[in-house]
Amino acid sequence: MWIVFSGAGISQESGIPTFEERPDLRDVLTLDVWEQEPPLVWQTVWEMHRAVEAAEPNQAHLAIATAQWFVVTQNIDGLHQRAGTRSGDVLELHGDLRYAHCPQCGDGSQLAFLARRGVPKCGCGAIYKPNVVLYQEPVTRWRYVANLLNQACGVLVVGTSLTVNPAAALPGMAERRGIPVHVINEKASTQVPEFITWQTGISSAAGEMSHKDPSS
Ligand SMILES: [Zn+2]
Repeated sequence: MWIVFSGAGISQESGIPTFEERPDLRDVLTLDVWEQEPPLVWQTVWEMHRAVEAAEPNQAHLAIATAQWFVVTQNIDGLHQRAGTRSGDVLELHGDLRYAHCPQCGDGSQLAFLARRGVPKCGCGAIYKPNVVLYQEPVTRWRYVANLLNQACGVLVVGTSLTVNPAAALPGMAERRGIPVHVINEKASTQVPEFITWQTGISSAAGEMSHKDPSS
């Protein structure tokens, strides 16, 4: 089984901006801002929610769904699932834009059922927290990745340069297990270890992905 590891680059063609293109989003989605000004975080979450609702999965999402590969993603846009990858086959490291939960009583709601603006509140009076991993928060789901790699025969990295932690640890983890890593990204990374194969052009590669094993 090959595992796909995807990042913001895969959704760029669907019109979802990366945090590189929108550093202002990154500045707001932090634990500090959440603790001091939750309306600011919610304003950004609703903006992203609208962008995601207006977006469609692209060739790359569809090819991965057709291949029925397990997906580990840094994206919160849900486009892998909308392309047809079963939700049980997607590990969303940074959370999602589908749910919010109450930090006080644990109650939860789908974003689609909320007012889609302002600050949504739980019945108990507390402010709902979006199900997004904020900057300064630990990426707790990373703990599943090592186990997934134990069962994998290769990793196909799409749309991320793996420069940010914990994703930066991925090549080393694969190398220790002796499994190949194939990267498809628009931009080449400066530090590509020799055992990693590389190509640019996510959309041009998407067609190939569904037809052949990325290692061949
Ligand atoms: Zn509550």
